[in-house]
Amino acid sequence: MEMFIDGTWQASDGGATFEVSNPATGAVVDHVPDATATDADRAIAAAARAFDTWRHRPVTERVAILKACAGAMRDRADEIGALLHAELGRPLAGCIGEISRSADLMDIYAEEGLRLQATMGLGGATGEKTIVTRDPVGVVVAITPFNYPVTLLLFKLGAALAAGCTMVAKPSEDTPLSTLRLAAIFAEAGLPPGCFNVVTGQGRALGEALVEHPVPRKIAFTGSTAVGKAIAAAAAGTMKRLTLELGGQSPAIVCADADLDKATSAIARHGFANSGQFCYRVNRVYVDRAIHDAFVAQLTDKVATLTLAPAGGDGDLGPLVNSKIYANSAAQVADARDKGARIVLGGDRQTGPGFDGGHYLPPTIIADATPDMLILREETFGPVLGICAVDSPAEALRLANDSRYGLAGFVFTRDLARGLALCEGMEAGSVWLNDIQRSSHFVPFGGMKESGLGREKGRYGVEAYLEYKTLYLSYEVPE
Ligand code: NAD
Repeated sequence: MEMFIDGTWQASDGGATFEVSNPATGAVVDHVPDATATDADRAIAAAARAFDTWRHRPVTERVAILKACAGAMRDRADEIGALLHAELGRPLAGCIGEISRSADLMDIYAEEGLRLQATMGLGGATGEKTIVTRDPVGVVVAITPFNYPVTLLLFKLGAALAAGCTMVAKPSEDTPLSTLRLAAIFAEAGLPPGCFNVVTGQGRALGEALVEHPVPRKIAFTGSTAVGKAIAAAAAGTMKRLTLELGGQSPAIVCADADLDKATSAIARHGFANSGQFCYRVNRVYVDRAIHDAFVAQLTDKVATLTLAPAGGDGDLGPLVNSKIYANSAAQVADARDKGARIVLGGDRQTGPGFDGGHYLPPTIIADATPDMLILREETFGPVLGICAVDSPAEALRLANDSRYGLAGFVFTRDLARGLALCEGMEAGSVWLNDIQRSSHFVPFGGMKESGLGREKGRYGVEAYLEYKTLYLSYEVPE
């Protein structure tokens, strides 16, 4: 595929390309342009031209176009999902689900767009009015990771378009194809040329050129904390607005009075979704010593039923996307082993027919983990979970918060007062009590501490693409 700029497919300046391969087999799926700073400039110029018109379209027209885009995503979810399956390796059903769920978010952003209002203070003197209005921030650069390429793009794109902004997106090198296809589908659905442009290339070269370019007014980034910090530093040069959704190392606290069946089912489901390549997954569990052994046994039984999906076959977990992501999990397992933890499930790479072409790691549970181990400190981004026994809810909360991350937290207890106190005490952008539902499209999503800056989703997401502007009006009052 080529890049999608100003409503047309375009090659990179100089014509260089790179391979996109299937993580399950290693086979090349397609080639995409390896874009340069010149390409970044061309895409940003297209977005800037489109901004002049898009920002002035009546919001009802913008909303109708967003709704048409959402409908097109639903109609073509199988096609986009199949492409996502090929580039990411996640089992197909989950990929198709990602497309239709992202379409729902597009609809919600469109509806939030209809509710945008300016306000006017009532306290002005005669002949003076003060109106507080909102302007779209301008051209936005979106930089996205590999793990939910469509969802995490839509977190940004739907909000930006509803607010009147236009966008240049740079998807991950691993998973650019679904984003490119989406751009063409949106154009067919009526999104005007230049409103949504996609450039493909390397984080360092292309990503930096986009972030440092003087025209865009905002960077919306989802990815690792290290890259987020580099982007924040580079964006400071032109004082760009930032939304940063960064890494996580999310803790669960399981109290002695928890409903064990519910807690283990929720953690088994949530900790291993998308092979653990999931920013707010349960990464570590602090469980009361009184129920520790029963918890480990029950969780292990449930997680052991999750299956690996071989290349071309069915199952719950696909391969990890690349060798770097696999190596991080493998290093955390090795570190835990060296420091005396017990690997009660999994731990070793899966090989054999159907698995040799990819980096497959079976669901892995590490018991007797201690706070000095990487599995309890650093983001895993793989199907590995650490469990640590504690003597009290207070100790669990202290350990849960002893982290530079603050994306999500999870609490299990039948005592509602204790549960609420623990939820309130968690240093995290979202906290779940007694079960783990999917994150809602209507409420803010984002992280505290080094997990990020700003919030996405719902009206909070749209507001992140608007700037306040105050108009002071003076006029002669007729006699
Ligand atoms: P990554 O940080 O390696 O890459 C993300 C994107 O940034 C890619 O498109 C990459 O090309 C680009 N990039 C790399 N260096 C850059 C630079 N110097 N300047 C500009 N762009 C650059 O992340 P990844 O491995 O693709 O994804 C995994 C990470 O994403 C994990 O840390 C995970 O926690 C995080 N993530 C966070 C959330 C959230 O909502 N908080 C959601 C999903 C993933």
